[in-house]
Amino acid sequence: MMKLTFLGATGTVTGSKYLIEEERTRILVDCGLFQGYKKLRLKNWEPLPFDASQLDAVILTHAHIDHSGYIPLLVKQGFNGKIYCSEATFSLCRILLPDSGYLQEEDARRANKYGYTKHKVALPLYTKDEAEHSLNFFHTVSFGKPQYITDELHFTLSRSGHILGSAFISLSNDQDTVTFSGDLGRSSDPIMHSPARLQQTDYLLIESTYGDRLHSLTDPALEIGEIITKTIARGGSILIPAFAVGRTQSILYYIYKLKEAGEFTHIPVFLDSPMAINATKLLDQFKNEHKLDEKIMPSCL
Ligand SMILES: [Zn+2]
Repeated sequence: MMKLTFLGATGTVTGSKYLIEEERTRILVDCGLFQGYKKLRLKNWEPLPFDASQLDAVILTHAHIDHSGYIPLLVKQGFNGKIYCSEATFSLCRILLPDSGYLQEEDARRANKYGYTKHKVALPLYTKDEAEHSLNFFHTVSFGKPQYITDELHFTLSRSGHILGSAFISLSNDQDTVTFSGDLGRSSDPIMHSPARLQQTDYLLIESTYGDRLHSLTDPALEIGEIITKTIARGGSILIPAFAVGRTQSILYYIYKLKEAGEFTHIPVFLDSPMAINATKLLDQFKNEHKLDEKIMPSCL
């Protein structure tokens, strides 16, 4: 009998954490930070409703911080089990978690310097060093292969098509299977493969960030192309803020496609983010995780 408790991503779209309890086993599926408004971020400081040292394992759907960013804090609170995820998710966490620690240290430093903290001393949730230490608990697993946590409790990862390494987690005991979607990819993404077709599950938990909106039917390349062409014509530059993992690579791909088709070929493109550059390089390392062919890779990235 599995007992499921929602500890995040309910009533909001960040902080994904699901606690699964059996008689003698406790598992967390995803371990994300709350992000966005201050009211939400303050939730990261609230005590967990369980003892982190009594948790047996964590399984991650993917590396985005709202699904993985609480891990250093979990380890800081005494967790010493295994953190299971796909290989590419681990590679991304090695980039994202230390960066998250660095940002928290920077925020605390700035709050102390300019005195905008109500506390005597503003502290980071965790430091870059603590984030790096938490990487020692990671344990990578292959897609499609059952991984046993106890004699009965096991899980299988299948591709969810959202970002590199992203997975559905199907968790089973000898009675039931519960599947966690994590964030869901699209069936016709230009870079990522379509999400896998699930074969069987008793319960399905689907995360939905934009559940009440439909995807636009227009081609994003055309829309981006129009904006760039118009701006260049009046002598301007274009700044595109984008999430480092996933969205940045999609935008680079669309720009590459437009240039290949002969549009604004003389316009240089700069990717001004070491984290996004490192995340983009991983596409080359995990070639079977995406659709880009080898010819595109060097010129696109
Ligand atoms: Zn995500």
